Amino acid sequence: GSTNLGLISSFGTRATRRGRNGPAVETFSSTRTEPSSCHIAGPRAPWTEVTSMNVAAILKAKGRAVATTKPDTPLQAVIEKLAAKRIGALVIVGASGGVEGIISERDIIRALAEHGASCLGRPVSDFMTREVVVCTEADTLDELMATMTAGRFRHIPVVEDGALVGIVSIGDVVKHHIAEVEMEASALRTYLLAG
Ligand code: AMP
Repeated sequence: GSTNLGLISSFGTRATRRGRNGPAVETFSSTRTEPSSCHIAGPRAPWTEVTSMNVAAILKAKGRAVATTKPDTPLQAVIEKLAAKRIGALVIVGASGGVEGIISERDIIRALAEHGASCLGRPVSDFMTREVVVCTEADTLDELMATMTAGRFRHIPVVEDGALVGIVSIGDVVKHHIAEVEMEASALRTYLLAG
């Protein structure tokens, strides 16, 4: 289906799926409908009812705190904040509170390689990525995984009505994906053993 994932510049025109924040993962309590001798995955097999967890569920588990900084922050201070917080990226927020960019350790490595230590005194805005791909709380884990893989980045800020409300990192995605796969495997085992 369509996705809310898009560049910040186009955000607002794509926010069509709000209100779809149903249960993150459906339970497996539904009654089996296939005959007990049938072990072929039919359309109503219980594991087919598993929906991909959405961003709202991920934020509920991890919280909504986002490490941010202003565009004029020197790169040195960005590095110190990344190290202190043990994270890989900061979202750059303008005076109005809007997302203006993102800086990750990858950008800092590139800046150091290109300019040497002189880059450390320059503003983060000189090195940040300005075209930020964001998501909304209604987006699914599957969509985030696909976007991170295709875009080759590991952070996606969550924006609702223009406001930064969270961030999802590849670590969060992997953690929840594993939980989802384990639940699916467990549902499959239960189903097969019940047959
Ligand atoms: P990362 O994998 O997150 O360390 O980022 C790799 C590169 O992608 C860096 O140049 C980041 O500035 C950039 N980047 C990270 N997250 C995003 C995002 N959500 N949208 C666009 N670029 C990003």
